[in-house]
Amino acid sequence: MKCRRCGKIGNHYCSVEGRQLSENDDGDFFLSMAIGAVTDSAILGGLLGGDLVGGIVGDLLDGDLDD
Ligand SMILES: [Zn+2]
Repeated sequence: MKCRRCGKIGNHYCSVEGRQLSENDDGDFFLSMAIGAVTDSAILGGLLGGDLVGGIVGDLLDGDLDD
């Protein structure tokens, strides 16, 4: 899994995030994106998936298709 913040692969110390990141941290982004797309709600995606940015992206992706 490639880090969406700095582009490094897998577990690493993310200089952008300023903390140690694991594969699971990146997974939350995609989970949030999926929930945001399905529920058409950035808030729900962010809350349930744990990554508000992912929820927003999912919501935007879904909205674009609807328009
Ligand atoms: Zn990183």
